[in-house]
Amino acid sequence: MLFEDVAKAFDEIEGKSGRLEMTDLLARIFEKASPEEAERIAYITQGELRPPYDGIDLGLGEKFAIEAIRKASGYPKSTVEKEFEKEGDLGVVAEKLFSEKKQQSLFRKSLSVLSVYNSMFKISRATGSGSQTMKINRLVELYNNATPLEARYVTRFVLGQLRLGVGDPTILDALSVSHTGDKSLREEIERAYNLCSDIGYVARLFIEDPKKMKEFKIEVFKPIMPALAERLPTPKEIIAKLGKCAVEYKYDGFRIAIHKKGNRVEIYSRRLEKMTHMFPDVVEGVQKLKPKEVIFEGEALAFNEDEKRFYSFQETMHRRRKYGLKEASGKYPLHVFAFDLHYLEGEDCTQLPYLDRRKKLESFLPTGVIKLSRMRIVSTPKELDSLFQNALTMRLEGIMAKDLKAKYTAGKRKFAWIKLKKSYGKEMDTIDAVIVGYYRGKGSRAKFGFGGILVAVYNDETSRFETIAKVGSGFTEEEMEKFQKMLDEDKVKRPPSNLDYAMEPDFWVHPKYVVEVAYDNITRSPTHTCGKEEGKGLALRFPRMVRIRDDKGPFNSTTTKEVEEIFRFS
Ligand code: ATP
Repeated sequence: MLFEDVAKAFDEIEGKSGRLEMTDLLARIFEKASPEEAERIAYITQGELRPPYDGIDLGLGEKFAIEAIRKASGYPKSTVEKEFEKEGDLGVVAEKLFSEKKQQSLFRKSLSVLSVYNSMFKISRATGSGSQTMKINRLVELYNNATPLEARYVTRFVLGQLRLGVGDPTILDALSVSHTGDKSLREEIERAYNLCSDIGYVARLFIEDPKKMKEFKIEVFKPIMPALAERLPTPKEIIAKLGKCAVEYKYDGFRIAIHKKGNRVEIYSRRLEKMTHMFPDVVEGVQKLKPKEVIFEGEALAFNEDEKRFYSFQETMHRRRKYGLKEASGKYPLHVFAFDLHYLEGEDCTQLPYLDRRKKLESFLPTGVIKLSRMRIVSTPKELDSLFQNALTMRLEGIMAKDLKAKYTAGKRKFAWIKLKKSYGKEMDTIDAVIVGYYRGKGSRAKFGFGGILVAVYNDETSRFETIAKVGSGFTEEEMEKFQKMLDEDKVKRPPSNLDYAMEPDFWVHPKYVVEVAYDNITRSPTHTCGKEEGKGLALRFPRMVRIRDDKGPFNSTTTKEVEEIFRFS
């Protein structure tokens, strides 16, 4: 398949904001693709080359792309830079300069999807001395054979700025539509995807043979999408929903999935990034576990031996950064509180009821630094509340109530797990929102050049971001400087194509950073678009910045549905 077909589809996708149209455009591409091509197209559409846990970064800075455009177009560097200044998008600059290029090469070879992917893969792999020159030369080679439109997308891709606004759900829908003309296979495809978190792998298997979705099995070292919890405001409502249920302590640590096969151990974050190197102490503990092949998950947090108390996620990370991994491992040893089991000695445990998974987990834990989350079965609101109060006295965040019969709901937010946190109805509550824009500083803040952020939540039904607050307080002076620098690097000329907004910030940024924002309550307001009804969206009152959530990507932010639920309960 020609890369030009993909570039044309991307161009059309950019012009559309509706999910249905995007799905159809992508489906038409998948219809024509071989399994290998489908795999590459799925990754490229996501702006990736491999799944997140392979940690592949193209690592090409704007400086290098400018150099490659200069070499391939024959224009002087000053022209390329001037155009960049004007357009704010090197993809558009490449497209423009290559279409103006007088002498198109006579020996231009059409680019195929596979050859473009291979070149980009090689660019990402090049390391060591001379690697930057090699990266530039490969890019020049691509440009020499690219049409102007192809050059736009190659450039954006290598810079990590593809930003088509196509989420995983649209790709999953498109695969189904490519085969049946409708979304009837979406659920099967999504199941496979949630079990391996690898969109390219799923696309390849599906195009090879759609039956492979039903037969799809969990594999060690392919992390599963984490199950997510719903929330309810009181013990009474939780018991009304679940009846007799399990209650576990809710640890405010770092969520990790642990994979072990023989002596090899890998640890993945909530965002499915490989974090093994961060947890040498945990790896050592896991190697000693009895099972040969196992996947389980838990929360990791540091314990202070002197004060006999747990550190929060922030404190744990701070200590690990400050003292270095080795010293921190000795001084502030990590404990992992295992709370679920995905796979054991060849058996997919995600299909078992919660209580069976828990029993199997208990068959080889606790041992060493790997503990078990504390769990008790309760039947009344009173019992549930007393465990909740216990958790609070131990300075934990709250509890997780779990449906005894529920399967593991990979990648889904279901009432199989319900969280009850100390903030509900009492102190402050928070949501996790995505930064989509920022403001210039005024008055005393003018010296920082930073005046706050515009944040949005994710509507997972429409695959669009919707604004919910302008956050101007809660930043320290240091943070203001940090945000200013971080966001300056990411600003874009136009509002993100997958954002619904009513107010405009001074600068737009591509949805990427997630922040935790505290607020007093939620009201209806015409200035925001979250869950908009009759011209008014939901908005946070008195929003305050709490912290950056490095462990979350934009699609893991709080959803519109959750905000609507919080609004209903309050
Ligand atoms: P979410 O994970 O629901 O998107 P979040 O990361 O902000 O949101 P919370 O809403 O506070 O976290 O609660 C869910 C998280 O609680 C889980 O993702 C997990 O990391 C953590 N957790 C702590 N203890 C447990 C437990 N015993 N069982 C399940 N999850 C737990």
